[in-house]
Amino acid sequence: MSGISSLDSKASGKMGVRAVVYYMVTTLIAVFIGIVIVMIIRPGRGSRDSPMVKNGNIEPVQATDAFLDLIRNMFPPNLVEACFIQHKTVYKKIVHTRNVTVTLNLTDSLNITDPHLVENLSRVLHPIQETVEETVPVSGSSAGVNALGLVVFSMCFGLVIGNMKEQGQALKEFFDCLNEAIMRLVAIIIWYAPVGILFLIAGKIVEMKDLAEMGGQLGMYTLSVIVGLLIHGLFVLPLLYFLVTRRNPYSFIGGLLQALITALGTSSSSATLPITFRCLEENNHVDKRVTRFILPVGATINMDGTALYEAVAAIFIAQVNGMDLNFGQILTISITATAASIGAAGIPQGGLVTMVIVLTSVGLPTEDITLIITVDWFLDRLRTTTNVLGDSLGAGIVEHLSREELQNQDADLRNSVIEENEKPYQLICQDNDTPNNLNNETTM
Ligand code: ASP
Repeated sequence: MSGISSLDSKASGKMGVRAVVYYMVTTLIAVFIGIVIVMIIRPGRGSRDSPMVKNGNIEPVQATDAFLDLIRNMFPPNLVEACFIQHKTVYKKIVHTRNVTVTLNLTDSLNITDPHLVENLSRVLHPIQETVEETVPVSGSSAGVNALGLVVFSMCFGLVIGNMKEQGQALKEFFDCLNEAIMRLVAIIIWYAPVGILFLIAGKIVEMKDLAEMGGQLGMYTLSVIVGLLIHGLFVLPLLYFLVTRRNPYSFIGGLLQALITALGTSSSSATLPITFRCLEENNHVDKRVTRFILPVGATINMDGTALYEAVAAIFIAQVNGMDLNFGQILTISITATAASIGAAGIPQGGLVTMVIVLTSVGLPTEDITLIITVDWFLDRLRTTTNVLGDSLGAGIVEHLSREELQNQDADLRNSVIEENEKPYQLICQDNDTPNNLNNETTM
């Protein structure tokens, strides 16, 4: 809510719409690249000791049902309920009897040879009752936070607050403040994390059949994320920049080096924000009206690197668990990874927190996040760098597309300055003619 409410689409007009379109398109491309890479490399191949599918912990869901569940979960009927229950299609076995008629062939068993009798007896119809077992999908629910529903609600609510301008200011400040308070609380709690993580990882290691195999899988998983981020950051985003602006994207990226190194060092797009402003405005000469509007929002909601990593991580965890994902589940992962990256905070390992959304959406065990935690500190740095790169190239693209509006604004500003300068002259003229008019003018 806090991030989206700062996106006042009406006030910023077309610029806001362009920014949102850019954010959505690039995030979806990032997710797509992640999915393709993880499907090709298959880092989680060679599943764990006891695949969860066989344990019955993960029920296979049909593609259409998984997709429809996703849509149902997006619009929870009750927000409080959404905090602990999510919609899930369950499969029920029903047994029912039906009447069928079978043709009895008595001629062979009775050894009848008379052709007339054979003809009559071969047509003996006998009604019987048959018991059939059918699996039917029924509407059900499963325990767990419907994070997607809460994210969709928060986004809509944030948009409305942003559009309310002055009237919505109190709510906006409330959510900003709440966000800040929770972040501070998280910053304190995170000190406890090493102890908790130590035991969680120890538990996973004990569970593993072959430690070397798991190490190899983690290595391949890390490689998949790195390859995906490199393709997105070094080829896709620059290509998009080039196609829109017809300028050299790599010289633009050259101007961002300091911000990218800061992102690599801090693992936080929010902490890098001041440096990103400086690089864009001073080195790349991007208009301040664009950077001041685009960058803070981008640092909160535009996280291509995070979206790519969330998709790769979720599919990796599914592979480790020996779970074959169908098209519907992959689609669910793409949508939830996009939502999760929007919901992730621009702080170190913010994406790891929202991984839960992606995992629960396809019924993967959330405690398996601990499998990837060991390499997350490293991948976090790389995905944050990609996030900052995406925000910065986005500012360049939006500036290029909004140049007409910016020029118009400049012209309006110039005209109003000229008018301002001419005012005393008008006032003097009016003063000479009608003294009453002067009062009206000055009070305006
Ligand atoms: N650390 C990332 C960022 O600040 C978020 C994440 O964990 O993916 O952009």
